[in-house]
Amino acid sequence: MKTYDKIYINGEWVSPVTPDFVNLINPATGKVSGKVVRANEKDVSLAVKAAKEAFKNFSNATKEERIAYLRAFANEYQKQMEEVKQAVTMDIGSPKSFNEMLHGPGGLAAINSSIEALEEIELETKHGKTLIIREPIGVAALIAAWNWPSMMITVKVSAALAAGCTIVLKPAELGTHTAVKMAEMLDTINLPKGVFNMVLGSGSKIGNALTQHPDVDFVSFTGSEGVGIQIAENAADTVKKLGLELGGKSAFIVLPDSDISQVAQMAVMAVMLNSGQMCAAASRTLVPASIHDEFVQAMKTAVNHLKVGDPFGDADIGPVVSQKQWETIQYYIQSGIDEGADLVVGGTGKPENLPEGFEQGTYIKPTVFGNANNQMKIAREEIFGPVATVIPYKTVDDAIEIANDSPYGLSGYVFGPNNQEALDVAKQLRTGFVFVNQLEMDPGAPWGGYKTSGIGRENGIWGIEEMLEIKAISSNE
Ligand code: NAD
Repeated sequence: MKTYDKIYINGEWVSPVTPDFVNLINPATGKVSGKVVRANEKDVSLAVKAAKEAFKNFSNATKEERIAYLRAFANEYQKQMEEVKQAVTMDIGSPKSFNEMLHGPGGLAAINSSIEALEEIELETKHGKTLIIREPIGVAALIAAWNWPSMMITVKVSAALAAGCTIVLKPAELGTHTAVKMAEMLDTINLPKGVFNMVLGSGSKIGNALTQHPDVDFVSFTGSEGVGIQIAENAADTVKKLGLELGGKSAFIVLPDSDISQVAQMAVMAVMLNSGQMCAAASRTLVPASIHDEFVQAMKTAVNHLKVGDPFGDADIGPVVSQKQWETIQYYIQSGIDEGADLVVGGTGKPENLPEGFEQGTYIKPTVFGNANNQMKIAREEIFGPVATVIPYKTVDDAIEIANDSPYGLSGYVFGPNNQEALDVAKQLRTGFVFVNQLEMDPGAPWGGYKTSGIGRENGIWGIEEMLEIKAISSNE
């Protein structure tokens, strides 16, 4: 059991001004996996002060110097990748197989993509006689959700360092094991004191203090819509620039004449991986009415092949992150039943036959609803669990309309036998990202949402540019 009793300010691990502790729970077993300190507003002030002071020099770091720090971060991450994966499983119960695919290498890919992007960005250009300079915006508050604990921190921190900003990171408490590992790595790369700071603690307390702080220049937030709105309100008083990466209710459009068994497997993966705790989860599956019944049966077959259980063993699906999350998902499964969708597989309660020692884990039965409609709660609200909602459609135009009939606009999926047709449909979706006939994502491509899914973009050039101010100098030269 680990005790995390320090926060990281001005290049040192220090005790918060008034330490207060909370237990961390291993979601796979329900047992305590550690305890973590909670900082308060005074610690936030100290961290922001350190970052503001460090900005005076770090803002002048050359591109080459910033790249050298990022390379050192990447090297350290590479060395400690196994430990990162273990930490992610302790935090959120992600299975080994998924850590190999994403939580481990994804963090490294994010740092490398910031390096490549910074190499590409021209920090000084000319527009006629006017000199255009891209300068770091200042102190960046980076506030992360727990569902991609390693990637979210590497994406945000590497973009901020690439931009030349100084940082106060506030990770999610549910991602503490991973966040502390990241801070330990950053502690080894000889950044000047105060460039990177990390405060641990409750969102409402230190999150508000950070986002209201007059010396914070930029807030990069990933999390829920409600908190995103609160942050935007907090940031308004001091006119801070914001990046908001919020929720989603992505549609997975299955075009006519698709290979039913193959596409059903992809549709299941796109909503069930990471126990469905993905902002981009394909939680609405739109299927031609003529193949609906066959398609949901194929999804059921795919779900029945998924092994739910010990994430340190050979499970495909681990628990969800917490008891609270488990209860929220139960509520949505019950609401799907109550609103009259067909329960094809899964349902409320825990899966039967959990391995010994895991009965107290927060496991969900992977669930598929068929014959749903787009007005049901399970089609409109983000569930953040392994629950698929299949909605039949008549024509492809109807499918596009249903897909776009959502308050969210984060991502979409289009699968079909004809790539060009799928691309044409992708262009009509009001979302920031679309997967066409595959589930891979380029870590250097822009990521972010339309509508209530957020403001701004992360990753690659686009993520760094969010943290740059643009200055024009007009002269006779
Ligand atoms: P959350 O909003 O509860 O918490 C996110 C972070 O905000 C945590 O660190 C939390 O401590 C902090 N926080 C809470 N209240 C705060 C406040 N008043 N001020 C400042 N910070 C505060 O979200 P969550 O449950 O951790 O994450 C799940 C949500 O994140 C889902 O909606 C999901 O879709 C979204 N998400 C979006 C993306 C994306 O790229 N768009 C990626 C991953 C997750």
